Amino acid sequence: MDPIHVRNAIGTTYVDAACGLRIDDVGPTDGTVVATIPRSGAEDVEQAVAAAQAAQPAWAALSLHERADALDRLADTMEAAADELAHLEALDTGKPWDVARHVDIDRCIRNFRFFAEFGRSQSPEVFRMDDATNHVLRKPIGIVGLISPWNLPLYLLTWKVAPALLMGNAIIAKPSELTPLTAHRFSELARESGLDGGLVNVLHGLGPEVGQALVEHPEVPAISFTGGTATGRIVAATAAPMFKKLSLELGGKNATVLLDDADLDAVVPGVVRSGFLNSGQICLCGSRVLVPTSMMDDFLPRFVDAVQRFPIGPVISEAHRAKVEGYLRLAVEEGGTVLTGGERGEGPGFHLSPAVVAGLPPTSRCATEEIFGPVVTVHGYSTEEEALAVANGTEYGLAGSVWTADAERGRRFAERMDTGMVWVNTWLHRDLRVPFGGVKQSGVGREGGMWSLGFFSEAVNICVADE
Ligand code: NDP
Repeated sequence: MDPIHVRNAIGTTYVDAACGLRIDDVGPTDGTVVATIPRSGAEDVEQAVAAAQAAQPAWAALSLHERADALDRLADTMEAAADELAHLEALDTGKPWDVARHVDIDRCIRNFRFFAEFGRSQSPEVFRMDDATNHVLRKPIGIVGLISPWNLPLYLLTWKVAPALLMGNAIIAKPSELTPLTAHRFSELARESGLDGGLVNVLHGLGPEVGQALVEHPEVPAISFTGGTATGRIVAATAAPMFKKLSLELGGKNATVLLDDADLDAVVPGVVRSGFLNSGQICLCGSRVLVPTSMMDDFLPRFVDAVQRFPIGPVISEAHRAKVEGYLRLAVEEGGTVLTGGERGEGPGFHLSPAVVAGLPPTSRCATEEIFGPVVTVHGYSTEEEALAVANGTEYGLAGSVWTADAERGRRFAERMDTGMVWVNTWLHRDLRVPFGGVKQSGVGREGGMWSLGFFSEAVNICVADE
């Protein structure tokens, strides 16, 4: 198959980068070039800003209900193309088609339907005083920059696009250069659904080039970024002196805590899934499993057995596989034992079998740095206080899970974890109304439900004195 020729979606046109350069997009399943994309830069951002500026006022002038109806039409258009979107996502990420179809793409469609319905359900925000009435308005910001990673490409991008459009903004999206295909197809579907092209601009290329130019542009007053903590720091350093609104969803090193009453037969499948879904390349994956020392002999063989039966997938790129393998070598240097996994397997592509490491100090680099691959470290603990200290002992604070026979006890433990989100006896169980985001170096701000509507708008108060 010839590589797909991806162009930037700017206004009503599809164009190559102003510089004319292109980048290869390599599929992780067999290492072949599946597409080429424009290597965009500041000039392309300039054009996208002009297109967005032309389209946004008419969109902002519609009522929230009219915009919600447009989101539903976009969801219908995506639904009709869902199988094709899943094919593109599988090609770019290496995940199985049915996972792409029923995890990623179903959720993309749900993002639009959810925010459409959530928008319609909002009531006016009015605060009465003895002698006056306050009316809170949520005005569009204008143009918002959306920067997203490669692990759940369209899922995470549409999580931003839906509320951004709902609140009356035009968007300029910069998907990861490793996974551009669904963002490209999405830009076409948005136009097919009837949206003005200037509302959904998609620029392809490298983060430090086109991503950086987008963050630097003075006419893009808000940036929603999902990616690694180191990149988030660069984005924040660029945007903060310009007083841009900034939402940062960053990395994690999430703890999965088994309490001493946990029924191992019941919890091991969930612990394995939380560690290794999408080859461990989900920011919410539980990459450190904390187990009471008294249960370790019982836990480890069951866990390793279940991990060995978990499907092997490719990781996103050759470079990423080399990084993960580097951490496995480091684990051994740091005193750990690789109980299973870390093998490449036969054939092309960037496959790596799920790895379990035991015997590492909880303060070791492998147990505190984000690996973002199919590697889980297992640690014993003696008391709940010790488990809590280990769980909270990293610079990250994104998510975690607690597994116990006593849900109330699990909830009390969860309340003491320094993370933005904790699941008890479940994982990745998402209600789109609740706040999503991390504390410490896992991010700034929250998205989801009201938090997204708040971020993608400017809240303005009008206080009217009684007559
Ligand atoms: P990166 O931080 O490398 O990249 C994220 C995005 O930022 C990409 O589109 C990238 O482009 C772009 N980018 C890179 N440099 C800049 C820059 N200077 N200015 C603007 N944009 C830039 O993350 P990954 O793509 O490797 O994704 C993995 C990371 O994402 C993990 O740390 C993971 O934890 C985190 N993540 C967090 C989530 C959360 O909700 N908290 C959810 C999912 C992932 P390019 O790819 O072209 O370099």
